[in-house]
Amino acid sequence: MESTQLEWLAAVDDDLDSEHLDWLEEQAEREMLAKEEHGEAEKASDPTALVDSAEGPVGGSSDDEQDGVSDSDIVAILDDLETVGILETLRRHVVRTPERIVPLLAAFGIILPGSMLSEARDDPLVLLPLLKMVFTRILRQRKKLPQYNTVDDVLELLRNSRRIVLLCGAGISVSCGIPDFRSRDGIYAQLAADEKYELDDPSDMFDKEYFLRDPSMFFSFAKAIYPANFEPSRSHRFIRELEEHNKLLRMYSQNIDTLEQKAGIERVLQCHGSFATATCTEPSCRYHVDGEQIRDAIMEQRVPHCPRCQERQEATVRAAKRRKGWDDDNDDDDEDETPVGVLKPDITFFGEKLPDAFDRAVFADREQVDLIIVMGTSLKVAPVSDLLTHMPPTTPVVLINRTPITHMAMDVMLLGDSDVIVDYLSDRLGWTQSGKCIEPQSTIHAWLFPGGDTSVFDHKSDDDNGESQEE
Ligand SMILES: [Zn+2]
Repeated sequence: MESTQLEWLAAVDDDLDSEHLDWLEEQAEREMLAKEEHGEAEKASDPTALVDSAEGPVGGSSDDEQDGVSDSDIVAILDDLETVGILETLRRHVVRTPERIVPLLAAFGIILPGSMLSEARDDPLVLLPLLKMVFTRILRQRKKLPQYNTVDDVLELLRNSRRIVLLCGAGISVSCGIPDFRSRDGIYAQLAADEKYELDDPSDMFDKEYFLRDPSMFFSFAKAIYPANFEPSRSHRFIRELEEHNKLLRMYSQNIDTLEQKAGIERVLQCHGSFATATCTEPSCRYHVDGEQIRDAIMEQRVPHCPRCQERQEATVRAAKRRKGWDDDNDDDDEDETPVGVLKPDITFFGEKLPDAFDRAVFADREQVDLIIVMGTSLKVAPVSDLLTHMPPTTPVVLINRTPITHMAMDVMLLGDSDVIVDYLSDRLGWTQSGKCIEPQSTIHAWLFPGGDTSVFDHKSDDDNGESQEE
């Protein structure tokens, strides 16, 4: 196990993505759970305990020099990363004192599996590639581009850009009546409230293992999210307009509602799959069908069994009967039964890999993109949330969403109902004449349209002015 981890570390290049870190974290979490089962809960529930047990006390909360890494060290390292680059930073701060690698990783929030830590105790340098990747990641975090701030800047960008990447989420389909997953009245909240399903975690509805164990649960519910009678929103149509003006490089959609197709958008990648097709769950079969074929089953809330599997099973049974010459009782029939798969919609469940097309598309698009528009998503769900880190930091990013994004730098934020905002933009570009132009209000580089939620900012300014207001 340990050697595999180290082999893995040696093999990875600088191109760290959150999947690698998630993998590490998962290993560490598993160890904690295993420890808890063995009655070491107290020690294990503290994430630093893992580090402590292998390396003695390390930095984090304390600024003690003993820990090897102080807050001022971190500041100096971040500063050097910016000014002299990764290799020189490593040379200055790490190479001669490799014992600092583990505390540094901890300080940057990387929790390592204990097996890896004990291996690193003898030779901390084995963790150097990981630290290098963490530094790469820090450097790749995009910074706001100072030249883009106003609605006019956005219009200018829209006029001049030819290869726009759209990152879209549930927000563009809410006005179509499609329920959101994570909002207060969203699908997960409804599932949690519904005693019928008895789910520990509502997202288990989309867990592959649960599905394989009992597909009837999913099919009793799928009707609620099936995109039957929904029409595309104004936001979908705006994206189609971009495509018609030869400006759309690709739309990455987190939605599974296929409203992109309904709106006529061709250059779309459904990152989480869709109901447009379905595939047999039986690994030896994998029969692939058009989503229409399971539509009735979904509407009638029954499990669509795979017709090809059924055919094969019937043929096997017939052949077995012929062999036995019809005179036996059919008591052996059970033994001949081959499993019949279920036609599962090609939406990506938890525990399933994303379509390969996603990685290929990101790789191709990063070379060409000249504007990124984030629309109807808060960029909190992978993989779309990671997409920005793979795009060039010099590409301008415009947010169109009800709520602001604060965990990543946006160049201009148009806050409000995305349908209202795209109406405005489209009118100003002269593409449409909806006559619905409502001039937005500005707060620095965020522009407020009807429906915008700026409570994040309000909260912040309350804090800032709290004392003076009381007086
Ligand atoms: Zn099948």
